[in-house]
Amino acid sequence: MLNASHSASAFGAGGNSSNLSTVPDPGEALLSREPRFLQPLWELRLGYEEYLQSPLFPVVLSVFHYFGLCIPVTFVDVFCKRHKWYNKYKIQPDKEITAAQLRDTLTLTMWNHVLFIMPAAMAQWVWTPSSPLPEMAPTLADFLWHQIAGLFIFDFQYFVWHMMHHKVRFLYRHIHAVHHRYNSPFVWVTQYLHPWELVVAGFLTTTNTWFFDSHPLTVWSYMVVSITISVEAHVGFDFPFSMHRLDPTGNFGGSPKHDMHHQKPLTNFEPFFNHFDKMFGSFCPPMGPGGTKSKALTDYERRARECKKNF
Ligand SMILES: [Zn+2]
Ligand SMILES: [Zn+2]
Repeated sequence: MLNASHSASAFGAGGNSSNLSTVPDPGEALLSREPRFLQPLWELRLGYEEYLQSPLFPVVLSVFHYFGLCIPVTFVDVFCKRHKWYNKYKIQPDKEITAAQLRDTLTLTMWNHVLFIMPAAMAQWVWTPSSPLPEMAPTLADFLWHQIAGLFIFDFQYFVWHMMHHKVRFLYRHIHAVHHRYNSPFVWVTQYLHPWELVVAGFLTTTNTWFFDSHPLTVWSYMVVSITISVEAHVGFDFPFSMHRLDPTGNFGGSPKHDMHHQKPLTNFEPFFNHFDKMFGSFCPPMGPGGTKSKALTDYERRARECKKNF
């Protein structure tokens, strides 16, 4: 899928100009008196501004965060697969991750980084000037709502893009099919993408915070959160602490829902949430840990079989 995240920031850095506290107008003076709970965190930038304001920083942050998440999970897949708990929480415990699969996914990930992410980052480094960082941190309210709104916007954009790339045979066969080579996802499948999908996901992720003229701290955090959700969607596990279990509304998709998309590719197109899939009838109840099936899923499969018979 998406991956929103996916390598997002090779297409733009964060930051805006309106947050720069160089213009002493009355409105800004009022703003600066708003409590800034994130100011202590923002102060940590001091001494590193030269690096942080570089257009390369969001790219470096995204790439390191992606590899930083994937590498430990790979160790789990390689060294823990004989443990009881591993199969208890694995969504498709009968599908073993092989060395050949790891080699294949890592190879494409590397090529995508070398041929697309790095050149885009270099171009940005050469042509985009560094923008000075603001003195003030964003307000907590702006920090949170910009990111939540960014996630919902990306979720809608990618839902439409994703559905089109499944429904239009040409688009599926030539672009999105790459991501569906594996019907049992594992972390490195997150960015196992055709370059065009990588470019689109990166562009959408990057530009969404431009709608809000977001503070650089918000932009960086949004990228980290997007990448984290995308990687978690592909881990292939449903742990008691998995993200979807922490959402009291039940609208967050998480790893079981996206795992089901890899099993039944004409369902669950939405990358982060459930509301559009439920609204447009593409929602399929996910499989639980250890390959368990809920009543909702067995009912869904029975209805699908009946539909096929009657067709
Ligand atoms: Zn996927
Ligand atoms: Zn898909």
